[in-house]
Amino acid sequence: MRRPSRRALYADPVSTISTIPGTTADPAADPGPDRRADAVGVPRIGVLAVQGDVREHLAALTALGAEGVTVRRPAEVEAIDGLVIPGGESTVMDKLVRAFDLREPLLRRIAEGMPAYGSCAGMIMLADRIADARPDQQTLGGLDITVRRNAFGRQVDSFEQDLDYAWGDPSTTGTVHAVFIRAPWVEQAGPGVEVLARVSEGPAAGRIVAVRQGNLMATSFHPEVGADRRIHAEFVSIVREHRLQQSGARQSPEREDTA
Ligand code: GLN
Repeated sequence: MRRPSRRALYADPVSTISTIPGTTADPAADPGPDRRADAVGVPRIGVLAVQGDVREHLAALTALGAEGVTVRRPAEVEAIDGLVIPGGESTVMDKLVRAFDLREPLLRRIAEGMPAYGSCAGMIMLADRIADARPDQQTLGGLDITVRRNAFGRQVDSFEQDLDYAWGDPSTTGTVHAVFIRAPWVEQAGPGVEVLARVSEGPAAGRIVAVRQGNLMATSFHPEVGADRRIHAEFVSIVREHRLQQSGARQSPEREDTA
């Protein structure tokens, strides 16, 4: 029996495209943006599904009570309350985001304040700057950070470590078991960036590996590979909070009219 290793998930980025689970490609199955208002309390969170480990994030989001949907088409970008950008290969993801005409809608929604969480390659996609980008490589940006791709070097290119994490939910405590797979680190972070975790030991000790800035969050590591849902729960609560603010903002003009 073939047991796929974690690394096999990332070994052949292009072949993963064909293994992406079904999307809302059937127009009748696509509820569209208006459904957002109906599903009170249930955030609709997209997982960018052009490449990478999409399934694991969908499973984590669903387990937390969110509606997890794949995002591969521009219309799907409009119909979500938040977005997860998975691990994979950032150079491939960037190319496919452009090829699928997703870049402009994603940039707009991120600029409008849509919450987004990037894991590993997803962190690279959300970074304003890459220290060693491939020629032509673009990111979506939003996080005022410089990331270094494949930063940990060949000897420790994949490893696991327990990290202290600055949990936003005060009821969440304890370290997080972080899985790094050819991960980036944050080489530099702007003043508005909150550092959530750093490498705890070894040659890279002290390097920043989890950040938040407003509604954007990123980790160098892969919380989706284990059963620990606490990092996803942090993101789901950012999305819920944003939904609440949005619905308040939609209602307040009416309230002013009737005052
Ligand atoms: N090294 C990959 C990149 O540069 C990221 C690896 C990952 O997402 N596991 O995009």
